[in-house]
Amino acid sequence: MNAEARMREDLALSEGYHSPQLEVSVRLNANESPFPPPQGWVEALAEEVRFIQFNRYPDRRAWSLRAAIGEVHGVGPERIFCGNGSNEVLQCVLMAFGGAGRKAVVFEPTYALHSHIARLTGTEVVSGSRRADFLLDADAATSLVSEVRPAVTFLCSPNNPTGRVETTGTVGAVLDSAPGLLVVDEAYGQFSPWSALGMLSTSERLVVVRTFSKTWSMAAARLGYAVASEEVVAALEHVALPYHLDALKQAAGRLALHHEAEMRARVSAIVEERGKLTAGLAGLPVEQWPSDANFILFRPIARDAASVWRDLVARDVLVRDCSSWRGLEGCLRVTVGTPSENHAFLDALEGCLS
Ligand SMILES: *Cc1c(COP(=O)(O)O)cnc(C)c1O
Repeated sequence: MNAEARMREDLALSEGYHSPQLEVSVRLNANESPFPPPQGWVEALAEEVRFIQFNRYPDRRAWSLRAAIGEVHGVGPERIFCGNGSNEVLQCVLMAFGGAGRKAVVFEPTYALHSHIARLTGTEVVSGSRRADFLLDADAATSLVSEVRPAVTFLCSPNNPTGRVETTGTVGAVLDSAPGLLVVDEAYGQFSPWSALGMLSTSERLVVVRTFSKTWSMAAARLGYAVASEEVVAALEHVALPYHLDALKQAAGRLALHHEAEMRARVSAIVEERGKLTAGLAGLPVEQWPSDANFILFRPIARDAASVWRDLVARDVLVRDCSSWRGLEGCLRVTVGTPSENHAFLDALEGCLS
């Protein structure tokens, strides 16, 4: 290849994002909802499809979708930005506020896409760390952001893949000392006892990001959003591609909001199952961390995690192998599934470890 035809050198050195999609019966690796979306939503969407004018471009501003989401959070549509999954929202944040000569701070171990997308946009990544219990050390975090002065600071709460939720005090302290935007990724927000959404009125630099992928049982629809100040939302709209949200997705999101009660019931069912999974893991030779999300991070005590992962696949169960991630040596992450999937997982894990 000519030098000009080669991939950007700074990207060629970095690894892409990998999450194996294997054909197994029990898929507990991607923190998806184990439940299909409500049947009433499927039917309403099918009905709506008949009225979509597919020969026309969709509403570029996705105004009615944004108004409907805003209503849920008590803000107007001008404070909501939607994307193709929250990953596109994060990408727009980094395109608008990161880039060459600017920095982003993440606290590892955390969601790999924060630093990955930052690098794709040419943003320099500065990594802070966490305490041994995987919570942030508020003092260390505030001194890091005061010193680095990043354009964007990422918190993930509850944090993927550790499951831990940060305290209001920690989020408030980081918000006060970070000069740029503070993005709180709340992909698992509905599982958590509190949300940074309540802090939005205190700062124009706070961005709370949510997704329909996990709690709304809609990972295939690819829809996520940010709640932020009007100024931040205007900047995100500036970098998003025209018509990035297709008409079908806009309808899907708007109609989903009519089924909030069902979504909450599913969240409660998963929280109950999470308790049973925690109890089951407590009886096995593994270390585990408390979770406020729909997954549990655990570490087999006397066995190599990668070989346990392979043994589980051989038993038709897929979990996430986090053992090669910095700070997560020996760890695996299991998504809370249906009661029968969780049983199958615990049985398989017991078989592997005995
Ligand atoms: C799953 C997940 C997302 C979701 O990404 P989508 O693009 O909305 O599917 C975002 N952030 C975190 C921390 C996640 O775990």
